[in-house]
Amino acid sequence: MTATLDRPSPAAEAPADLVARLRKTYAGGRTRPEAWRRQQLERLRALLTENEGELAAALYADLGKSSSEAFITEVGFTVNEIDVALKHLSAWMRPERVSTPLNAKPAKAYVVREPLGVSLVISPWNYPVQLLLAPVGAALSAGNCVVLKPSELAPATSAAIARLVPRYLDPEAVVVVEGAVPETTALLEQRWDHIFYTGNGTVGRVVARAAAEHLTPVTLELGGKSPVIVAADADVTTAARRIAFGKFLNAGQTCVAPDHVFVAESVHDELLRALAAAIEEFYGKDPAQAKDFGRIVNDRHFARLAGLYDGGGFGRTVTGGSRDPETRYFAPTVVDEVAADAPLMGQEIFGPILPVIPVTGVDAALARINAGDKPLALYAFTKDEDTAQHIIAGTSSGGVTVNHTLLHLTIPTLPFGGVGESGTGAYHGRSGFETFSHRRSVLEKPAGLDVKLLYPPYSALKDKLLRRVL
Ligand code: NAD
Repeated sequence: MTATLDRPSPAAEAPADLVARLRKTYAGGRTRPEAWRRQQLERLRALLTENEGELAAALYADLGKSSSEAFITEVGFTVNEIDVALKHLSAWMRPERVSTPLNAKPAKAYVVREPLGVSLVISPWNYPVQLLLAPVGAALSAGNCVVLKPSELAPATSAAIARLVPRYLDPEAVVVVEGAVPETTALLEQRWDHIFYTGNGTVGRVVARAAAEHLTPVTLELGGKSPVIVAADADVTTAARRIAFGKFLNAGQTCVAPDHVFVAESVHDELLRALAAAIEEFYGKDPAQAKDFGRIVNDRHFARLAGLYDGGGFGRTVTGGSRDPETRYFAPTVVDEVAADAPLMGQEIFGPILPVIPVTGVDAALARINAGDKPLALYAFTKDEDTAQHIIAGTSSGGVTVNHTLLHLTIPTLPFGGVGESGTGAYHGRSGFETFSHRRSVLEKPAGLDVKLLYPPYSALKDKLLRRVL
């Protein structure tokens, strides 16, 4: 499938014209049949698998992402999501019969999932393939037309996607618009049937305000300071390895990365030693040479991280701390005894600096966590199920993984999303299909049989009967 040549390139097409064109496609019913949805999902899958090399090269150019990491967290992850949708699409699309109360009988009641219409997906730079194309897959599975707005801060990936999408996907229904704030602002002025935004909360508010103008529903996949609790009974060596994995993947630029660690005093020293050992095991003595350690996305974020680190407010640097502005290398860094008012604790770190905070026990950690915003993720390390349940019941977050990091988001049967400051709405697996669908209630009554009890004029007898049956 290739784009026809007589159509203006998306860049040249005014946003209002683009939306009008997609509305026409949608109104024509082309995107509704299961066959079209399947074909688009298969084409999206082919886009990813046939161009893995080009996408990996773009991810390396933008983020220094290794090809293994690009496969695990971007291409492979998104292909998995598509495969789940392909496997379950028929079942998801099937009308869902529901029971009817006795007083409504005879009747048939069911819920149909209908597409929302023309959707906009705005994505960030940190996982610029996954965070764009996984929601797009969900939108297509639900039968939507969709406009993709990649992040301008991952320009190589944005360009690759803009080149590939028209070659693979239906150009009358799926369009990429590249650009930065002005282009996104112009898109946000249009009327959409759904806006799916992933990124920071400041822009999340801009998106929500724009959507409110048209009463457009939004999914906001935001971030926050996702904490880790290491309880006194944790398997500390394994915990350290799993925390280091989640923290230093993509050089810490992961929305669900462990932001900071609360550790029980009794295992504090052991955890610090184990974290330093895990970092060396993963990235060697000089992580600057490690092929699997990424780079900071741009100078602005590099300067922000340098400022957070140089701002101090912690006891000592356990490991790391070095950096190189030329290559935007920031060493995997662990800092200890971080004060509550340290700059590192004032915002989502979103980089390879891990503050460790000794606490007297789990409840002290819970009090600290609950004093802040609800995070996107929370991680608890303990061998005791009661302790795990105590932590889960005593906090709120978008999701939780016990005894590992990040992995809850890889389970397609678990909805992925935030709560409060970390976002609203969810996707992955069926949740993505639901997000881009309207659950439409249908009641079918037989045509002839007409019980007149409901109609006026009402009498004392009718009133009495109605009170009994309603
Ligand atoms: P970003 O700067 O790439 O911005 C995201 C998108 O918003 C881009 O497409 C950008 O063009 C657009 N944008 C930026 N400013 C805008 C404005 N003023 N008006 C309209 N559009 C605008 O990415 P980011 O926000 O730096 O991403 C990092 C943040 O995203 C972190 O907070 C992270 O935790 C969060 N995040 C969340 C998830 C999740 O799934 N919940 C995933 C990744 C990142």
